Amino acid sequence: MRRIRIFDTTLRDGEQAAGGALTIEEKLEIGRQLERLGVDCIEAGFPATSPGDFRAVEAMCEMVKDCQVAALSDAKLPNIETTGAALKKAAAPRLHTVLSTSDIHLQYQLRISREQALEMAVAAVKLGRNLIQEVEFSAMDAARSDWEYLCRVFEATIDAGATVINIPDTLGYMQPPEFAELVKYVMEHVPNIDKAAVSVHCHNDLGLATALSLGAVKAGAEWVECTINGVGERAGNASLEEIVMALKTRADYFGCETGIRTEQIWRTSRLVSSYMGFPVQPNKAIVGANAFSHASGLHQDGMLKERITYEIMTPESIGRTDSRIVISKHSGRNAFRNRLRELGYELDDDEFMRAFRAFKEIADKKKDVTDGDIEAVVADQVLTVEETYKLDHLQVTCGEPSVPTATVRVVMPDGRIHQDAATGDGPVDAVYRAVDRIVGIPTKLAEFSVQSVTAGIDALGEVSVKVESDSGTFIGRGASTDIIVASCKAYLNALNKVAAARREREAGSGRMQPSANGTAPKRTVEPIPA
Ligand code: MN
Repeated sequence: MRRIRIFDTTLRDGEQAAGGALTIEEKLEIGRQLERLGVDCIEAGFPATSPGDFRAVEAMCEMVKDCQVAALSDAKLPNIETTGAALKKAAAPRLHTVLSTSDIHLQYQLRISREQALEMAVAAVKLGRNLIQEVEFSAMDAARSDWEYLCRVFEATIDAGATVINIPDTLGYMQPPEFAELVKYVMEHVPNIDKAAVSVHCHNDLGLATALSLGAVKAGAEWVECTINGVGERAGNASLEEIVMALKTRADYFGCETGIRTEQIWRTSRLVSSYMGFPVQPNKAIVGANAFSHASGLHQDGMLKERITYEIMTPESIGRTDSRIVISKHSGRNAFRNRLRELGYELDDDEFMRAFRAFKEIADKKKDVTDGDIEAVVADQVLTVEETYKLDHLQVTCGEPSVPTATVRVVMPDGRIHQDAATGDGPVDAVYRAVDRIVGIPTKLAEFSVQSVTAGIDALGEVSVKVESDSGTFIGRGASTDIIVASCKAYLNALNKVAAARREREAGSGRMQPSANGTAPKRTVEPIPA
C-alpha cells in the first residue's frame, strides 16, 4: 500500500474564509484535534500578515509534537524571514512559499515576466532553505499555467532546495482527467522530481475538488492538501474526510492508505463547524447529518436484513455514535469524566466542574443525553476567552400579538450586576438590544444561526453569531435547551472576545490578538494566496 500524506489547511485556507475570526485558543484547540486525527502536516497560518497570525503559528509550533507544522508566505524575502522566525520552535517545521506561474496572474496581478517570477521563486526557496529544512513551493494557479514553463519553475525550485512541490488548482478550474494528466506530466518532465515530494491543492468551484485530488493521487501525487468540512476560499477546498474515506473505502482501487484515525473525523468536523461558524449541509458526504440515514422503505428493509446492502462504510468508522444514549441524569462524576476521556477531552478541574454542572442541568431538562449533547456542553464551558460579561438572568415575553420584550441581568467585570430591558422585532432582537444597553460596545451582528445538536423536541439548540466590531470580527457560540438563552450566551461570548481584543489593543502589545484586526486592513500581504 502506498502511503498518502494529508496536509491540513483548515487553519490557513479555511480560516481565511472565516474572515480570520478564530482566537488563538480556538486555533490551538482545533490544532490539538487535528493532531489527534493523525494528519501529517498542519498549516497553521500566514505569519507575515499580522502579529496575531504570527503568534498563532508560534503557539501551534510550541504545542504540536506528532506532526509537521507549516506556515505560508508569499515570495517576498522579508516575509520569508518572518515566516521562518514564526516556525522556529516547531518539532518538524515546514516553510510553504507560494508564487503564481500562470500568465494571467503574472501579467495582470504581479506585472512581472515569466523569467522574473522564476527568479523570485528560486530566491524565496533558497532563503527558506537557509532557515528551515523542509520547504514547499506552490505554483499558484498552476492549473492555468503553461505546462512547460511550470515544469521549468519546479525544476529550478527543487534545485534551489524545495523538498515539496505543490500543484494547486487555485480556482477549481480543471476537470479530473485533465488534472491527473497535468500531475503525470509534471512527474515525467521535471528531471529532478525524485528529490521532492509531489503535492496537490484543489478548490471546489465546480464541485470537483475531491475528484481532482483523488485523480492526482492515482496519478502519483503523495501529498494532498485539504480541509475539514471542505472549508476554504469561495466554494472551499477539497474535503479531508471525503478524500480519506474514499481512499479507505476503495483501497482495492487506489492501493493507498493514510495515517488518519478515521474515528476522529466526526468530532473534528463538529469542532471546526462550531468554531468557524460554518454549518455543515445535511446531505454533505461523510459528515452531513443525513450521510448515514436511510429514508426509503426499500433501503431500510435492506439495512435491517443486512447492512452491507445499502452501506459502503459505517457511521462508527468516522466516530459517529451521536444517536447512542450514553449517559443519564443519574450518571455521576466518574461516568461523565470517563465519557469525556473516551471522547478525547482533557479538561482541567475548573473546566470539568463547570461542564459537569452544565451537564446535570441539561440532563434534568432532557430525557437522553448523547455524545452530541456532551460535545455542545463542553464547547460551551471550555473558555476560549475570559468571561468579561456573564449572563446572570434572562426573561423574555413574546407572542402574537405582543411586543417582544427582554429583561437581562449581566455580571460586569467589577462584579456588580447590571440590569436593563428592551423591546425588539423578536425575542432575540429584544435580548440583544438589552445586552447592548448594558455592555455598551458598538458592534454589528453579521450572522446568526441556530442548529439543533440532536433530534427531538427536547434537543439542545446551538447558536452561532458573527459580530463585527472596531477590534475585528468574532464568532460567538452558545448552547442550551432554550434557544433564546443559547442566543444570549452566544452574543455575550462574541462580546467577550471583542472586549479581550480591546484590552489587548489598549495594552498596546498587539500580541495574542485574533488574526482579524478590525480597522487595520486584515491581510497586508499581496497577493492573496492559493
Ligand atoms: Mn487555496
